[in-house]
Amino acid sequence: MSTLSRRWFAVSCLALSIGLTGAVRGAEPVKVLIIDGQNNHDWKAMTPPIKEALEETGRFKVDVATTPPAKSSKEEWEKFRPDFSKYDVVMSNYNGERWPEEVEKSFVSFIKNGGGAVMVHAANNAFEGWSEFNDMIGLGWRGAGFGNRVTVDDNGKTVITPKGEGPGAGHGARHEFKVRSQDPDHPILKGLPKEWLHATDELYAGQRGPAKDMHILATAYSDPSKGGTGTNEPMIWTIPYGKGRVVTDVMGHTGGGDIVAVRCIGFLTTLERATEWAATGKVTLPVPANFPNSEAVSLKNEQGK
Ligand code: ZN
Repeated sequence: MSTLSRRWFAVSCLALSIGLTGAVRGAEPVKVLIIDGQNNHDWKAMTPPIKEALEETGRFKVDVATTPPAKSSKEEWEKFRPDFSKYDVVMSNYNGERWPEEVEKSFVSFIKNGGGAVMVHAANNAFEGWSEFNDMIGLGWRGAGFGNRVTVDDNGKTVITPKGEGPGAGHGARHEFKVRSQDPDHPILKGLPKEWLHATDELYAGQRGPAKDMHILATAYSDPSKGGTGTNEPMIWTIPYGKGRVVTDVMGHTGGGDIVAVRCIGFLTTLERATEWAATGKVTLPVPANFPNSEAVSLKNEQGK
């Protein structure tokens, strides 16, 4: 190769690599809408670190739609008309009054038509009387009489406790607990350890609902010494709804300025991956080097972000 053609070769390679990098960087961001505004939790302290973590991956563009506070007038609620069709996935950090009928209908059709949804912590406490919502979440914070309970035995087998039998929704004392992957080949969990230690959180138990087509991704042992049920309770699960995908993650308690659960790298990583999967059916996000193992909690930083 002459000096000149060598130079051209080098320039071409550079152009090609810039082109390739550009193609990856130029990939359309996943558009996320987080809904908050009413919750028995510290939603004002919880949404920002979740939004920030999603955006820091470079994969998401995140908007927030905040509902009016409880007991607002009809006029106030008329201002809450999120256009779900502009998004790939809706994340709920909301546990409050029913949305206006028009918004609920548009949310259902968004998911039915292939939109994604991610429910975080108390989001599954909401909307007990909304049957489409109950189908989407599968299990909610409901009494034992509301529906079946679903747990997983030590061999990974699903166990159904019928409606009316056993405990209803609850949680024991907050503590650090191990989260166990029940489907390591699922895109959300692929490459993650079989077990990791989650930061201090509430461990939801006895959740109830229709649980139709529910696929459990991760569980945690609800320890009787902490006021738990003595069974492996579902922590993260998926449900297909129409053409859409719904992920429910019951971890992530916040309250009284304490947001340690949402600073957990295990929580954030699985939430980011769940959001990408709910939106696209795939996960491209890498597993971070500081993902927790089964012995040590890993927190995002010391400033509470
Ligand atoms: Zn909570």
